[in-house]
Amino acid sequence: MLRLTELQLPLDHSPEELEEAICQKLSVSSEELEEFSVFRRGHDARRRHAVRLVYTIDCTVKDEAGVLARYKAAHPRDTHVAVSPDMSWTPPVSDGAVCASKPGYRRPIVIGAGPCGFMAALMLARMGLRPLLLERGKIVRERTVDTFALWRRSVLTPESNVQFGEGGAGTFSDGKLYSQVRDPRFLGRQVLREFVKAGAPEEILYLAHPHIGTFRLVSMVEHIRAEIEAAGGEYRFGCRVDALDLDPATRAIRGVTLASGEIIESDHVVLAVGHSARDTFAMLAESGVEMKAKSFSMGVRIEHPQSVIDTARFGSSAGHELLGAAEYRLVHHASNGRGVYSFCMCPGGTVVAAASEEGHVVTNGMSQYSRAERNANSGMVVDLRPGEDYPDDPLAGIAFQRHWERQAFLAGGGDYKAPAQRVGDFLAGRPSVSLGTVVPSYKPGVTPTDLSKCLPAFAVEALREALPLFDRKLKGFAMEDAVMTGVETRTSSPLRIPRGEDCQSLNTPGLFPAGEGAGYAGGILSAGIDGIRIAEAVALAITGRRVEG
Ligand code: FAD
Repeated sequence: MLRLTELQLPLDHSPEELEEAICQKLSVSSEELEEFSVFRRGHDARRRHAVRLVYTIDCTVKDEAGVLARYKAAHPRDTHVAVSPDMSWTPPVSDGAVCASKPGYRRPIVIGAGPCGFMAALMLARMGLRPLLLERGKIVRERTVDTFALWRRSVLTPESNVQFGEGGAGTFSDGKLYSQVRDPRFLGRQVLREFVKAGAPEEILYLAHPHIGTFRLVSMVEHIRAEIEAAGGEYRFGCRVDALDLDPATRAIRGVTLASGEIIESDHVVLAVGHSARDTFAMLAESGVEMKAKSFSMGVRIEHPQSVIDTARFGSSAGHELLGAAEYRLVHHASNGRGVYSFCMCPGGTVVAAASEEGHVVTNGMSQYSRAERNANSGMVVDLRPGEDYPDDPLAGIAFQRHWERQAFLAGGGDYKAPAQRVGDFLAGRPSVSLGTVVPSYKPGVTPTDLSKCLPAFAVEALREALPLFDRKLKGFAMEDAVMTGVETRTSSPLRIPRGEDCQSLNTPGLFPAGEGAGYAGGILSAGIDGIRIAEAVALAITGRRVEG
């Protein structure tokens, strides 16, 4: 099979034109082109009045070797035609079930039922290794009720919220399923295949920027649970891991202790606790697990009418069904040395309350599959530096986050409303006393105020410089009535738990730090990819085989 990349066609092309373009590219007739499928479809909107679709195509042709050789001879430097890579995934062990049936077998534990944890558990279960998945939060449907209680009634449940519970942090989200991580083994493809099997739409396999929205994510994680259980895995909810049981001589893991006091023995423990498990990080530090401070970012959410973003991005093509609600990605290097960038942009979505601790306010964004809400939102965040903005200590980033989340809680009025400000007021340095045409979507509500009290001075300075410049790239971005809501602090983990080639903690054998919380992922897809990687490493460790390469 051959893969063609960067094949561009006008937005409104016919199906025949795509076939013609493939034949033309390869200099073959339509009889020689046996079949083709779209591997990826994106768009190029740099010229907004001439938006083009950009395809990656897989195709079979008669005399593939000859066609490829002729193409290479005619275009020696062109890399847009090549043999399609093998994107299948093969489990590294095939005798897991045999191993798991031996007397004295201690099954692996996976802590955390987010995308990293459930993907690790799924692969371990498929390999016959009967993983036990421990999740502090609740089953996803019950968790939804708790999450809505904060949004509708200002009631936060610390163990069951946007961050904690089945499905992990991204369950109530836009469900963006793309990533910029290096993925030479196409593990991301395997994650997407599993998601489709669990009910996600097929299009996630070929859209360049797929998303599935909150509703579908909820039912998808239920399907994945059923799949894990059918393959011999087990879930336990309401089970917070509060301690690690380590061998005093070697520090090798022997098991975990739950908040209830129950001890569960295991020699292989995957730690996929996400970036908000602050108490768990404190416990790990106390247990002497090697951790390092990591840089992350903080800022605010910004909301505009989606129509403003659509027009700025797509001009006269705004509203085209193949383009959907427009996304954006903005970056500016401010003169005070800080990077300002858009984070987790949610077209046609809502800003959500994402706190997991009482007395704190945190923002994030979500949408439904339709992306049909009135506003576009994204994080506008500024990079932070351990050792400069807070001490270079693994837990200091958390203290920093807590400080600003608390300021936001107080500025919002102390009842989980978020502090908000019109962009015009923020740029002019005056507090907002009311809001304008853009109605903020954050629930349980916002309090117009001065957001600069909820952000470090360097972040305020960098944002004030960046917003007018972003307006030059996206007309309307700095519109007076755009609304900023704060604070966005959970952009990524404030620490990293280093691991070796075998994916085990550097000083705690048998502990496999994984996913976003350990600093190895930044989003649903990359967390899922890391879950597969970690399942492979655990399977190899259990069966006594070495990690290859
Ligand atoms: P998590 O998903 O955080 O899962 C960790 C799990 O561990 C949690 O369920 C938690 O309850 C559990 N846990 C923690 N401590 C313990 C303990 N001690 N014992 C037992 N269980 C424990 N990413 C995208 O790619 N696209 C998006 O559109 C997107 N939108 C988002 C919207 C919101 C509102 C949020 C909050 C995040 C969003 N993200 C998005 C980020 C994405 O959700 C995370 O990157 C991803 O979920 C990380 O996966 P993970 O498995 O590493 O950790």
